[in-house]
Amino acid sequence: MASGRSNGKSPSVAIVNLGCAKNVVDAEEMLGVLAEHGYSLTADTSRADVLIINTCGFIASAKDESLTAIRDALRWKRRRGTKVIVAGCLSQRYGKSLLEQVPDVDALIGVGQMARIHEVVERTLMADSPVIEETPPQHRWARTGTRVLSTAPWSAYLKISEGCDHKCTFCAIPAFRGGHVSKPLERILEEAQDLARRGVQEVNLIAQDSTQYGLDLYGRQMLPQLLRELSAMQTFRWIRVLYCYPSRVSDEVIDVLANTPRVLPYVDMPLQHADDDILRAMMRPVGRDRYVQLIRRLREAHPDMTVRSTFIVGFPGETEQHFANLLAFLEEVQLDRAGAFVFSPEDGTPAENLPNRVPERVAQSRYDRLMRLQQRISLMRNRMWIGREMEVLVESAHPAQRNLWIARSFRDAPEVDGTVLVRAREAQPGTFLTVSITDATAYDLLAERTISLPVRAGQKEEVPL
Ligand code: SF4
Repeated sequence: MASGRSNGKSPSVAIVNLGCAKNVVDAEEMLGVLAEHGYSLTADTSRADVLIINTCGFIASAKDESLTAIRDALRWKRRRGTKVIVAGCLSQRYGKSLLEQVPDVDALIGVGQMARIHEVVERTLMADSPVIEETPPQHRWARTGTRVLSTAPWSAYLKISEGCDHKCTFCAIPAFRGGHVSKPLERILEEAQDLARRGVQEVNLIAQDSTQYGLDLYGRQMLPQLLRELSAMQTFRWIRVLYCYPSRVSDEVIDVLANTPRVLPYVDMPLQHADDDILRAMMRPVGRDRYVQLIRRLREAHPDMTVRSTFIVGFPGETEQHFANLLAFLEEVQLDRAGAFVFSPEDGTPAENLPNRVPERVAQSRYDRLMRLQQRISLMRNRMWIGREMEVLVESAHPAQRNLWIARSFRDAPEVDGTVLVRAREAQPGTFLTVSITDATAYDLLAERTISLPVRAGQKEEVPL
């Protein structure tokens, strides 16, 4: 049980979470473990006795953001003695050497210590010198039911595996998150039952590579079976898969995404580039033409299949012609959504020392050009929905306009995609509505509430509320 304060009150802990959805789950698991061990949880960082900064170490901008958050936390340490623990990817990646930049932190832990965060907090409260735990990443799945959900009560992430076995030359993640480790299927189903009991209606499966799920544990790709079993539970209304690796989007995966009730026809598939020279330099196995075919197969399998991807611009050696090939690819495949990053030379990755670096100014201008093109494409894709009806999940009232509600459709993953703005006198956050699309922008759709609808776009069968 929590100890460490002389006034007899249990110490309070707050977590500042940075980075991706995988970090959201890690933070929720840490909060759960701490609550179980008697710590009081607070969202108020100014009042916490212990502040945990759950960092991201993905690329330069993410590292800067994490360091800023740590320095902000250290201000509370100076003002009121708050203990500061640095967890997550940045500390896993750089370990003790981080202390050169933020020497006053009280503890540094990696991604393998999260399940025993209570012990780390306890030792930090007692110790005068920093608690440092540098170990290789070990994946110990926290117990089902311990997670404190921090997302909207009707939507949750469900992590199905950890780590990555790919060798993309720009990526440092496998070096510090370790190789791919699947969570046992029965464990995932148990967690899914737990989320369903708590009222979750939308479950978003996450991993570094969701399509690799099961290969290590069962010797075969198990994502299709997992999706079928989650669908058969008949509890979630929306089941979404994030982060698919293109060469593993098999016919079976496509079939399950397209034809399984409750599994959304939505694929988030980072392609990184679409010029074969650059793909080879990135050690990405799939070539441009196969990407084109894959996207065609996805759309043939389901006419409303929503395809999202991410690209890197300014990879070393990327010429104007390579970049033009990427833009031409985007024009050809007309993705529903795409995001982009400017290449960041990450320590210890093969791409770090590649010759022919693209000047920052050029890379930034390519980023802007790609995003402008994609905005035009996304606008066209969104306009195709005008006049159609679809089901949306209401998230909140619009902060500035009466009778306007912020909702998401099956095409909108939380945090990363757009929204559907629904005009309606009344709506209830956390419920599903049928709406009719009246207008579109590059990111959002505008809609009116409709009374009833027999066919819901994006759904393969009528699912009773
Ligand atoms: S698939 Fe490539 S980019 Fe993604 S985490 Fe693995 S190595 Fe990194």
